[in-house]
Amino acid sequence: MRFSSCYIPTLKEVPAEAEVVSHKLLLRAGMVRKLTSGVYIYLPLGLKLLERITAVVREEMNAAGFQELLMPMVQPADLWQESGRWEKYGKELLRFHDRNGRDYCLGPTHEEVITDLVRGEVRSYRQLPVRLYQIQTKFRDEIRPRFGLMRGREFVMKDAYSYDVSIPAAEESYKLMYDAYMRIFSRLGLRFRAVEADTGSIGGNFSHEFMVLADTGEDTIAVCNQCGYAANVERAEIEWKGQPCTDACPDIEKRATPGAHTVDEVCAFLGVAPQKLVKTMLFNVDGETVAILVRGDRVVNDIKVKKMLKAEAVSLASQAAVEALTMAPLGFAGPVGLSIPVYADNELIGGTDYVTGANEGDAHFLHVDLRRDAKITAWGDLREIEEGDACPRCGATVELTKGIEVGHVFMLGMRYTEPLHAFFLDEEGKEKCMINGCYGIGISRVAAAAIEQNHDGRGIVFPPQISPYACMLINLDPKDEKVCAIVEDLRIRLQNAGDEVMVDDRQERPGVKFNDADLLGFPMQIIVGARGAASGNVECKDRRTGEKSNISIAGFGEEFPAWREKVLAGWRDRSK
Ligand code: ATP
Ligand code: MG
Repeated sequence: MRFSSCYIPTLKEVPAEAEVVSHKLLLRAGMVRKLTSGVYIYLPLGLKLLERITAVVREEMNAAGFQELLMPMVQPADLWQESGRWEKYGKELLRFHDRNGRDYCLGPTHEEVITDLVRGEVRSYRQLPVRLYQIQTKFRDEIRPRFGLMRGREFVMKDAYSYDVSIPAAEESYKLMYDAYMRIFSRLGLRFRAVEADTGSIGGNFSHEFMVLADTGEDTIAVCNQCGYAANVERAEIEWKGQPCTDACPDIEKRATPGAHTVDEVCAFLGVAPQKLVKTMLFNVDGETVAILVRGDRVVNDIKVKKMLKAEAVSLASQAAVEALTMAPLGFAGPVGLSIPVYADNELIGGTDYVTGANEGDAHFLHVDLRRDAKITAWGDLREIEEGDACPRCGATVELTKGIEVGHVFMLGMRYTEPLHAFFLDEEGKEKCMINGCYGIGISRVAAAAIEQNHDGRGIVFPPQISPYACMLINLDPKDEKVCAIVEDLRIRLQNAGDEVMVDDRQERPGVKFNDADLLGFPMQIIVGARGAASGNVECKDRRTGEKSNISIAGFGEEFPAWREKVLAGWRDRSK
């Protein structure tokens, strides 16, 4: 491929709209352009990047015995009504109707469609397992599309689905996908971790997310270096091992705290540590308002709230609801005298003599004993795990690290097969419900995550496994026939050896070409100029290390493979 005939609109300036490095570099390298919020055009180089990723994914899916199909993006509402998700999915589901007034949505995922397909065809245990996948465009009307390809509204996903006769059989399908994902992300050259994930309202115990480790990740992972436990903080359990506090607590006392709303303000005003303050947060849980109590220095984990209360939807209560229920402005809520259900984090039972809001403007209570002064509906694990907390497996301390969720494997059980009546006849002719799993990889997010993890001040540093081209062959003197002949010869040799090559044959200054080669980030650069040619050499540059080596043109056939192997070996070491 010749650079001069490619559509690669590189940019010198960093686009103001882009916050994270992958978004900046994808725009600057001429790989994507935004059409509208969260919706991107993949330019030729960006498309090639996606194709490199999908090639690996496809190979591993096929090797695991899953077969590819392609489902439509447009899905009829009745299937979603049958599964119960038409009501529940919320605003992420983009809904519309056709000329006859029938309701549809753009598929954010395909459990309904594929379960409908399978239930229509599969009658007997002999036809199971069914294992299918597709690579297709999804649409989710995300509340906050951002970071370019990382959180788009329209994005490319690989989604696979399995249907089995029993839970053990379904676990085999799950394991096949889990192992395939381990191979895929290793082959893509990413540093990643498989972590235990929340199963949400879907239920079941099997869910793992695959996280690319990067500081810009939106997810936080709790990792134990002692036993290897790793979980999304959304899910990481906290086992409280303390004893209920038996200390005496002085009588409760109301104290004026004018203008002190936040934990920090109240603590500063009263001169107490945040550990002595109880934070009272009001949540809307399936339409009912409840109070959740955690220590002042802790964070409520709303997914744990959802799980404990077996709820479908949990969100912070509105300011109006808080003010109506507590009869006080925001920031002064407290559990004493509150007439709604109150759930308290386990840890609070280990202390007493707390400070809480007094459900009155500019006032707090001192000396609160939660068991004496408040009506606690139930205690539970309701806070987010933090650095230094005990590992739920082995008790050592956990560390927190950031990750980008690139894949998710899910044991769904009968979540969709039961409401959609995906039944089959077992060996004894008895009707049974199929056991189903689903497995997603965010292909376009992988592209962004790979760049988040692999870049430097000069641009993208593509892992060889996903780079759109293996090599940028830079012709410094495109008017020099001798140089052009060398470049052409090298191009053919590289191509014959299986490396995809882009030749920079543009009539541009060397500086422009060097900058673009670094920006586009192909792992190998070969630089051919009149001066080097005269001395019989070309220069080879490892994009990752910046190391340059001279290779003789006469000895290219022997010297280049050794140099190339060194570049690739560096990458292999890095992803270990
Ligand atoms: P997130 O928690 O990031 O919103 P999710 O849990 O909603 O993701 P899944 O439903 O598990 O995502 O989808 C499977 C995969 O699709 C995810 O692991 C992720 O890689 C990708 N994905 C999900 N939402 C987006 C998005 N808005 N943009 C790009 N990729 C996405
Ligand atoms: Mg997920």
